[in-house]
Amino acid sequence: METIDLRSDTVTLPTAAMRQAMAAAEVGDDVYGEDPSVLRLEAIAADLLGKPAALFVPSGTMGNLAAVLAHCQRGDEVILGDQAHTYLYEAGGIAALGGVHPRTVRTNPDGTLDPAEIEVVIRGDDAHFPITRLISLENTHNRTGGSVLSVAYTWQVAEIARQHSLALHIDGARIFNAAAALGVAVRELAEPADSITFCLSKALAAPVGSVLVGDAAFIRRAHRARKQLGGGMRQAGVLAAAGIVALETMVDRLGEDHRRARLLAAGLAGIAGVVPDKNPPPSNMVYIQLDPQLPLDAAGLAEQLEGRGIKVLPVAARRMRLVPHCWTTDAQIEQVISSFGALLG
Ligand SMILES: *Cc1c(COP(=O)(O)O)cnc(C)c1O
Repeated sequence: METIDLRSDTVTLPTAAMRQAMAAAEVGDDVYGEDPSVLRLEAIAADLLGKPAALFVPSGTMGNLAAVLAHCQRGDEVILGDQAHTYLYEAGGIAALGGVHPRTVRTNPDGTLDPAEIEVVIRGDDAHFPITRLISLENTHNRTGGSVLSVAYTWQVAEIARQHSLALHIDGARIFNAAAALGVAVRELAEPADSITFCLSKALAAPVGSVLVGDAAFIRRAHRARKQLGGGMRQAGVLAAAGIVALETMVDRLGEDHRRARLLAAGLAGIAGVVPDKNPPPSNMVYIQLDPQLPLDAAGLAEQLEGRGIKVLPVAARRMRLVPHCWTTDAQIEQVISSFGALLG
């Protein structure tokens, strides 16, 4: 039986072109700065995002952590959303390893933080307080269903950061999805920020890796942080080669994932007891709520679907996530919709 895995876009396997590029990659010792494939990936990424420098890191989590360590000292504070990936899903690394204090503000259902609320929590100069140093946004915003932050909103927050001499970081794990959804160049979304992390291994299908971009002095500090964190890799060009293919071949097709997410949400919305959080979904993620009257909860339904070769991600008792990606076909979307209908009808 064919498996349709919609738990996440991270399940995407490397493409044939990536495997070939990995096998043929020119490599060297990247800790000595001598891996030509890593250097090439970093140059391509910096250029695409419109920043002077870039750093290849093993994961998005390390990219965000290295960024926070490069922006902040111990005891400094970062303002971020209470639904931010960095706050919820990165093992508390900024506090545990960086001594950086997270100050949360409410995340709106559209993934934004209220600019007025950000201003309220910026600390004054008082020895009682940590020093506010950084604001961190997330685009697309995962927990709010792949919400897309606009260029104008990002500038609005950047302006607040500038007025208070703070830095602005974007957890742009899926920034290319945001750019595709908005129909803008990714560098327009990156321009207001001092630093951005993006993932190569989600919808872009590379096997491993993320990239952090920013100015040269910032990237020098992040490079040291990466070494401290154990993220200095040697012949990492084998991985970077796949990342280059990801940027060259997988970015322009992201609209396909978004179209299939819309198809899926529209189909599921037609099934009694199933309510998509957002219809149409803003990017590649479909989150659905299951009516409490339904006999199956999210875990029960996921198990039944798995029996039909369909994997989904339960995220709460009555909530689940489905993420179409580059291996998903229109026929599979139809099959998923009809399986929901059969199990819940
Ligand atoms: C996936 C993700 C990350 C990084 O995750 P890793 O698994 O460490 O690569 C960071 N932020 C967001 C919003 C994500 O979805």
